[in-house]
Amino acid sequence: ELAELLFGHITKTPQEVEAEFPPRGIEGNVTRFAPSPTGFMHIGGLFAALICQRVAHQTGGVFFLRIEDTDKKREVEGGVEEIVNSLSTFGIEFDEGATSSTTEKGEYGPYRQSQRASIYQTFAKSLVEQGKAYPCFCTEEELGDIRSKQESIKANPGYYGEWAVHRDMPFEQVKELVIKGVPYVLRLKSNGSLDKKVECKDGIKGKIEMPQNDQDIVILKSDGIPTYHFAHAVDDHLMGTTDVIRGDEWLSSLPVHLQLFYELGWKAPRFAHIAPVMKLEGSSKRKLSKRKDPEAAVSYYHQMGYPSDSVIEYLLNLANSSYEDWRRQNPDAPHEDYVLDMKKMSVSGALFDIIKLNDISKTVISKMTAQKVYDMTLEWAKIYDKEFAALLEADEEYAVRILAIGRGGKKPRKDIAKWSDVKDYMAYFYDELFAQSQPEAEVDKEIITEYVKIFDINDDKDVWFNKIRDMSEALGYAGDMKAYKAEPEKFKGNVGDVSTIIRIAVTNRSNTPDLYDIMQIIGEKRTAQRLNKYVV
Ligand code: GLU
Repeated sequence: ELAELLFGHITKTPQEVEAEFPPRGIEGNVTRFAPSPTGFMHIGGLFAALICQRVAHQTGGVFFLRIEDTDKKREVEGGVEEIVNSLSTFGIEFDEGATSSTTEKGEYGPYRQSQRASIYQTFAKSLVEQGKAYPCFCTEEELGDIRSKQESIKANPGYYGEWAVHRDMPFEQVKELVIKGVPYVLRLKSNGSLDKKVECKDGIKGKIEMPQNDQDIVILKSDGIPTYHFAHAVDDHLMGTTDVIRGDEWLSSLPVHLQLFYELGWKAPRFAHIAPVMKLEGSSKRKLSKRKDPEAAVSYYHQMGYPSDSVIEYLLNLANSSYEDWRRQNPDAPHEDYVLDMKKMSVSGALFDIIKLNDISKTVISKMTAQKVYDMTLEWAKIYDKEFAALLEADEEYAVRILAIGRGGKKPRKDIAKWSDVKDYMAYFYDELFAQSQPEAEVDKEIITEYVKIFDINDDKDVWFNKIRDMSEALGYAGDMKAYKAEPEKFKGNVGDVSTIIRIAVTNRSNTPDLYDIMQIIGEKRTAQRLNKYVV
């Protein structure tokens, strides 16, 4: 009678709903990523999505996207698109789920919780029928009073046991209030006791033991919309999730979730709780914060121009420290080949290290062709640095030649960690950028004056170098390193010092890739112009 009073509009039975979500009948794991469309994607979200994707796909299973949009206050327009698109740039694609704020694919939907109200209510109705759930009419004020009383006698806080004042309200009284339109929430009638334990084997944290839940938690809010707890149980059951992998802020709610699965008569999925990504501040660890740390936002990596593979490789490395060994042994394998092991993940929270990310990214980029580096830098620059994009586009061949320096061999150069580094890396090849820089150290005019006399762009590399060596000796520098090391006091310096002076004159920098290659690319006219500034 109570169930009909509260849920008269629900005509389907739980069995009928269940029949619409038949068992998937597949061997592999079914995982999901279940974000709220708040418009902000935290790096921890990408991390979780990556792990879920791997756990499904490395077993031939299914990975789907469920949008948890029951809290309209937190939702932003375009939030779903933001999630789908930003994950897609990192190669994270879903087999099923929401594809935009209005579209979706897959047989286990709707995949947006806001579209599933009647599904949740079907199971809520059934719990009421079984005497496992009941309406609670307490106002905020009344709940506050209960809390104060509990505080004053040092009882555990919350709505449970004898404090659950509406638990056994007679039907007639409930009916009167419902008919009057008094708002109510629906609560689970908990049989749990803090003296008893629930056990669970967490995929990351291992065996966990926690006290049972004794609270009559809210399962439907006064607008009939479910709480996270209830929606999670209903959705993950119907959608056939085998592995719930989520942030460990949910670990403390696990007893509630296990209880819900039990009371609903369902087998609970496996759980794995991911510790948050941490950051070192001084000597203490704290969570990467959306407010304080720009690198907490997934959009940051796009803005800085990290290739998505670099970020993914870094996150794999953060998930499993053995990833690095694997990468060393399989330098050319796609990262998709790596088999992630959840049991090897950090229990307390992996430390985010941007230097490590840069290292990994430099290696990723060092393996790309010059053309690919050009294409990706240009794509980035078109959004974030239009002037530089124009410079790149003005002479593609020239830019690709620059980017080809030191690339392709056994030990490629690793100068570039992200596309926003490229402009600085290439700057001295462009007169307009070179003009904005200053020599990194003083240029010895005597050396350049002499060098200009022998400089010939058509020299091959050996001739070029021999000329510099001979000139060095003539000017009192050691042409031979051994001789220099044996008696340094006999020389003004050595041929390396002379080369550095020439390098600075041509590039304004003391550290660059091969100077011969640079001069060949810059060309005779420009090299001579730069040298001539120092001729006395
Ligand atoms: N919407 C929840 C969150 O964003 C989902 C947690 C889960 O994966 O179950 O934290």
